[in-house]
Amino acid sequence: MSLDNKWTEAKSLVKDDLGDTLYSRWIEPINVCQQIEDTVLLAVPTNFMKDWISKNYLDNILDSWNSVDSSVSKLDFMVMDAAKDEEKESSENDSVVKSDIKFDISLDSKLKFENFVVGKTNEFAYSAAKRIANSDKVDFNPLFLYGGVGLGKTHLMNAIAWEIKEKFPKKKVVYMSAENFMYQFITALRSNTAMDFKNSFRSADVLMIDDIQFVCGKGTTQEEFFHTFNALVDQNKQIIISADKSPSDLEGMELRLKTRLGWGLVADIHPTTYELRLGILQSKSENLNTSIPEDVLDFLADNITSNVRELEGALNRVVAHSELVGRPITISSTKELLSDILRANNQKVTVEDIQKSVSNHYNIKNSEMHSDRRSRNVARPRQIAMYLSKQMTSFSLPEIGRKFGGRDHTTVMHAIKTINNLIKEDTSIKEDIDIISRNLV
Ligand code: ADP
Ligand code: MG
Repeated sequence: MSLDNKWTEAKSLVKDDLGDTLYSRWIEPINVCQQIEDTVLLAVPTNFMKDWISKNYLDNILDSWNSVDSSVSKLDFMVMDAAKDEEKESSENDSVVKSDIKFDISLDSKLKFENFVVGKTNEFAYSAAKRIANSDKVDFNPLFLYGGVGLGKTHLMNAIAWEIKEKFPKKKVVYMSAENFMYQFITALRSNTAMDFKNSFRSADVLMIDDIQFVCGKGTTQEEFFHTFNALVDQNKQIIISADKSPSDLEGMELRLKTRLGWGLVADIHPTTYELRLGILQSKSENLNTSIPEDVLDFLADNITSNVRELEGALNRVVAHSELVGRPITISSTKELLSDILRANNQKVTVEDIQKSVSNHYNIKNSEMHSDRRSRNVARPRQIAMYLSKQMTSFSLPEIGRKFGGRDHTTVMHAIKTINNLIKEDTSIKEDIDIISRNLV
């Protein structure tokens, strides 16, 4: 089957998963470029789409590829026309082409230290970032920044790069996403230019790689990455890495690489507190030049707790709406406008609640949720509980897997698929699930 045909088939599976609207908005515009070993490279029109698709639909797409071609275990995205990207309007773009390696240096001018609000949860990461940016020598290598989605990792990475550019204009900073790094790297390996690839970093003084968790995967690539990393450290290059987990929790990463990544300074960003959220809202609303009543800011800080990205999005929506309809912002208009986000943030159902309800419903021991037993009478309820966990909580597939006796995320994915199919065929399962979920909310 040709690559295009495979993609057509995979796309139709994604469409079944997501429904027509989401499909035509996010999946249809994607083109397939090439497959390198276990990695499929997809082209998307804009950077924004790349981010959005990677955050929200990666599992769906990967799972569908997998059904069509089981050798595929990783997706990589390439942006076709960066110029089209609205998000990029205020950002600086320049690329350095060296030995055919393209470093994508695209820094966002909004993401500087001066716009970063510091609180208890991020002060350590902030200080570490500041210190690295202002130091003329390599104090610790690498700096490893980690924290959940939308808590400011990319912001700090950009801020470091800007500050170095300002303080040490001669230093060359290379900032790239781990996906891009990996893609360049795999391509170099394939064309036997891995040496050039490594050498091409010699001219850089600081190498920053964002979202290193995407590097996890293939053994040989990791092996090479490990050597490149060590070579760069030997050359006294400052390396700065971000990830969504601590080095030791990175899944699919070789032990020695995890160990090596933890050698320098490891700084984590914790989930936000109310005070930090309020501080961020105040600082952002000042920049928006709209007066937003203090009680509305307070309401937002109290209720939108997931992450800063969502908090920012909510604030922007409130401001845009008020400008559009020309009415002042109040708590009640805010509640109405943000009902979807608020519902998601107030949802308090835990995976443990779900496991308990499901076990009660099917009259099995709660411990079966974590056990290895595979007989249908316990395996099916366990799958239902995984399915409900994905539906009713914001946990990721790997997180859910861990809460079910340390299962792999592919097991969770499989459970969700199985139950989705069963719901269509078997009305009694659907009824069971309705009853259980009604009891949970
Ligand atoms: P991550 O890379 O950790 O997923 P980002 O750095 O992209 O998160 O942050 C998401 C959004 O929240 C960005 O717009 C960023 O500017 C903003 N943000 C995060 N933390 C802060 C903070 N402490 N102060 C101001 N803005 C923040
Ligand atoms: Mg980021």
